[in-house]
Amino acid sequence: MTEAGPEDNPAERKMRFLFQLRSRGVTDPRVLEAMERIDRGLFVRGQFADRAYEDTPLPIPCGQTISQPSVVGLMTQALGIGPRDTVLEIGTGSGYQAAVLSGLCRRVYTVDRHRRLVQEAEAIFRELGLYNITAQVADGSRGLPDQAPFDRILVTAAAEDPPGPLLAQLKIGGIMVVPVGQSDAVQTLIRVTRSESGFDYDELRQVRFVPLVEGLGQT
Ligand code: SAH
Repeated sequence: MTEAGPEDNPAERKMRFLFQLRSRGVTDPRVLEAMERIDRGLFVRGQFADRAYEDTPLPIPCGQTISQPSVVGLMTQALGIGPRDTVLEIGTGSGYQAAVLSGLCRRVYTVDRHRRLVQEAEAIFRELGLYNITAQVADGSRGLPDQAPFDRILVTAAAEDPPGPLLAQLKIGGIMVVPVGQSDAVQTLIRVTRSESGFDYDELRQVRFVPLVEGLGQT
């Protein structure tokens, strides 16, 4: 498949970007629309900027990565977000996933253990006028107890198991999507649905994410 190059004009680039998403299984029209509105190019800087429209993860500061667009789309789709939902994202990273979520729900809380990433993402949210996102420096493995419970939780870093505090902060009827497995291996994306009687788990696909690390980062 040909990937978008810097020579493309923006409209063509966007069409190709959306085509790639569809061909990799992102079919929910609301998700596609939300992704059409957010320019991934704003979230990738430096030497990788010209690859922002390719369906590939890319390095961002603090040794982290911006997720592959089709994975962002598939995870967002798996959450089945409603317009009145409050969503918690663990792992702000570049802010791209949070920006996509912001178009689909009432409020997004996003946390990262690196202050620099939170500050840079916040600046982009302001620039785009995405005022329904609250970004915070926090250890997301503990969730965000002050704002809990949540309708949806998305973890964008790999945990060995779905973290207990996050399960506890999910509403009844709520859904959490989380990559589970060892950090240096291929992980399984899991969807957890909370019911009156407990938690149901289903496996969605294989993925590869940076690890969920406890405690705050140095920068
Ligand atoms: N969603 C991001 C990509 C996230 S990469 C995007 O759209 O660009 C994973 C992120 O999880 C990294 O930024 C990393 O710093 C963060 N992270 C890892 N462990 C964490 C923890 N315990 N609490 C909060 N953030 C964490």
